[in-house]
Amino acid sequence: MTIIKQDDFIESIAGALQFISYYHPADFIRAMDRAYQREQNPAAREAIAQILINSRMCAEGRRPICQDTGIVTIFLKVGMNVQWQAELSVTEMCNEGIRRAYLDPANILRASILDDPDGARINTNDNTPGVIHYDIVPGNTVEVHVSAKGGGSEAKAKFVMLNPSDSVVDWVLEMVPQMGAGWCPPGMLGIGIGGTAEKAMILAKQALLEPIDIQELQQRGAGNRAEELRLEIYDKVNRLGIGAQGLGGLTTVMDVKVKDFPSHAAIKAVAIIPNCAATRHTHFILDGSGAVELTLPNLDDWPEITRETSANVKRVNLDSVTRGDVKTWEPGDTLLLSGKMLTGRDAAHKKMVDMLARGEELPVDLSGRFIYYVGPVDPMRDEVVGPAGPTTATRMDKFTRTMLEKTGLLGMIGKAERGPIAIEAIRDFESVYLIAVGGAAYLVSQAIKASRVVGFPELGMEAIYEFELEDMPVTVAVDHRGVSIHQTGPALWAQKISQMEVEFRP
Ligand code: SF4
Repeated sequence: MTIIKQDDFIESIAGALQFISYYHPADFIRAMDRAYQREQNPAAREAIAQILINSRMCAEGRRPICQDTGIVTIFLKVGMNVQWQAELSVTEMCNEGIRRAYLDPANILRASILDDPDGARINTNDNTPGVIHYDIVPGNTVEVHVSAKGGGSEAKAKFVMLNPSDSVVDWVLEMVPQMGAGWCPPGMLGIGIGGTAEKAMILAKQALLEPIDIQELQQRGAGNRAEELRLEIYDKVNRLGIGAQGLGGLTTVMDVKVKDFPSHAAIKAVAIIPNCAATRHTHFILDGSGAVELTLPNLDDWPEITRETSANVKRVNLDSVTRGDVKTWEPGDTLLLSGKMLTGRDAAHKKMVDMLARGEELPVDLSGRFIYYVGPVDPMRDEVVGPAGPTTATRMDKFTRTMLEKTGLLGMIGKAERGPIAIEAIRDFESVYLIAVGGAAYLVSQAIKASRVVGFPELGMEAIYEFELEDMPVTVAVDHRGVSIHQTGPALWAQKISQMEVEFRP
């Protein structure tokens, strides 16, 4: 009989969550480096370079890879011969571990969990509760898989009940373009097939806990139907040309994982869950000998990347930029932004649009300004701001026309594509939409030299800040004519790939 003590369990969960907040798994880094080496689209290559540089900086500085530090999911395999020495339930212990990790004064993580999800949506302030799954198994250990899943990638999860004769591959190839770039590719797809609706979703999530090893599978060949699907989907999804951040390019997925389970004769349940540039998970086993100490990675595993300065980089001073300047920018141009920029995301936009409808004055004048969709991590030590990467812009689409029309806002900065209503508004008001790299949050924050709250302080990380920038790298994603690189880039690269006869091999 193994005794597992309450404090050992809680400390192990807390330590693992801190660990994954700043260390990417080594297999993920190797796969991202391979994607960097082979990428031929300069914009996508630059995005991957930023993800790799950001990853190394986070490992060295022990700060979060992304400003969205995720919703915690824990899979437990509890041995039937384990005896708990604990006053709390196992679920309560998991949540206490999450609480300690997210409030750790050495590296406070962003609390993103809101209670009463379709009501008041009040932040629980410690990122609890986690989503916890149990399996009771023979043995005398407790096996734990811990992950912290970003909202942007979880939001792109898909589920379908196919007819038994329908093609899983066809459905996946229909869904992936619809997922856009808000899941911050390149990443992985977890696919669950069979069982019931909830079983397929859980299989897809579990599949993402496995290491990236598609190259070994390519070399040894498929041994069963799930492995055949992995190879076929990996090849065909990459041929879509979506590429890093949806800019178009050779790598959209670095691996595809498939888990299956017997199915009822009348149905074929299929789920897809993507993992993003902030892939965060680890695994450990408790055997009664105390809390687990995870092995520190070797920083030599991270490649040394030097950013290439391309010819079309333009330096922009946000304090003096004009609509005339904006009209000279082309989709795909890299800009380095300096000067003052405002921030605002979901809650601030809702508040501003409601105030405008009531004829009230906004707390800040947006005329001629740029707004960055972000909810940063709190600063630590000598930081001006914590990791501050962009959030998914499509959530702000429904506010965009009002913001451009009623405030004189000049441009927006966010992550991933814009939808048709936002693109129409951008074209009508000759505005512009720029993207920063999702998953390069710590790198982006290094360009922020000063920060102050200028509106809605009660919204916490969703308040309106004014950032002072020095050379923040962004890419022009929708120009003043409404041309979107998220439409033109993947179309161009899908065509190029079809002519290149590229093999998606290491
Ligand atoms: S990398 Fe993108 S999807 Fe992942 S947590 Fe960060 S912002 Fe969200």
